Amino acid sequence: MKHILITGGAGFIGSHLTSFLLNQGHQVTVLDNLQTGSLSNLDFCKDHLGFRFIQQDVCDPIDLEINEIYHLACPASPVHYQADPIKTTKTCVLGSLNVLELAKKNQCRVLSASTSEVYGDPLVHPQVEKDWGNVNPVGIRSCYDEGKRCAETLFMDYHRHHGVDVVIARIFNTYGPRMSLEDGRVIPNFIAQALKNESLTLYGDGSQTRSLCYVDDMINGLTGMMALGKPMTGPYNVGNPDENTVKQIAENIVALTHSKSDMINKPLPQDDPVRRCPDITKLNQATGFAPTVSLEDGLKRTIEYFESKLNISVS
Ligand code: NAD
Ligand code: UDP
Repeated sequence: MKHILITGGAGFIGSHLTSFLLNQGHQVTVLDNLQTGSLSNLDFCKDHLGFRFIQQDVCDPIDLEINEIYHLACPASPVHYQADPIKTTKTCVLGSLNVLELAKKNQCRVLSASTSEVYGDPLVHPQVEKDWGNVNPVGIRSCYDEGKRCAETLFMDYHRHHGVDVVIARIFNTYGPRMSLEDGRVIPNFIAQALKNESLTLYGDGSQTRSLCYVDDMINGLTGMMALGKPMTGPYNVGNPDENTVKQIAENIVALTHSKSDMINKPLPQDDPVRRCPDITKLNQATGFAPTVSLEDGLKRTIEYFESKLNISVS
């Protein structure tokens, strides 16, 4: 049994990770400032003896005795990370410095929740780890893209200069229950709109692509990476390579919710990546990782969650 710290554990992915690790018998401490996360995401474990919650900003120094760190604290939705872009860069950079200092002191492994955004609007498709990306350093997404790129640099330099045992997970679009209704990302927006029979807001013509990974598969990917026997060999992509246009995703959701919604076009946000799909060969060869939840099954489970949140039933 380990004592594991999850920064950002009150958020969408972090709360699923908390549940998984507690079920494995570990002790879990969640550190979160509740900027985009919520204590209601952790209701299931609030009385668990192995669980502890610390409300704290990851930009402030952390002093804990722990055996492993999953560093997830950072807003992930473009709407949220662009709301206070300077804070987003601080969270990426100062937050990473703090968890790396903690890992150094505890001599423990630390996993960084990096992102497919490090590839920017990718020129190589599907995206492979050796691609250095095509990122606008002065755009509205840069606070997050460049913040996460700098975090990767810090992780690698703590590894090279201080021998810290680091793992970098480049997470591709992940969805599932416990995404916030106010999140602003494509899946919560489309499902809530479809359930309410409102028009689905298609940014641009909807021909841009995303490859969506159900959260249970993501947790398997992240925990598999954390358990890697080998020392650091650079970043790993993690996600589901099933690539769809945003319009196809909208059509699927309308069909699965039996919705009367139509679609309206809204302007495409600046620097919105045109295509995104992970090459997961490296992680597959290292850990056997392969996603198992189809888009249809994952959407059905997520729709059920939003039905209960909105008190609407379509089944
Ligand atoms: P989320 O917004 O639901 O969760 C982020 C959590 O971090 C929230 O609980 C929030 O309150 C907390 N947080 C934010 N800033 C903080 C700070 N300064 N101090 C302490 N806590 C802070 O997002 P998510 O989808 O669960 O994403 C989790 C991580 O995975 C993020 O680092 C994100 O960049 C990364 N990621 C997610 C996706 C995805 O598709 N979900 C894709 C790529 C990368
Ligand atoms: N998108 C959309 N309508 C919405 C929300 C998002 O068409 O209401 C599009 C967005 O322009 C992008 C894709 O869906 O092309 C995924 O957006 P999201 O914000 O979920 O994450 P991103 O992958 O851009 O970080």
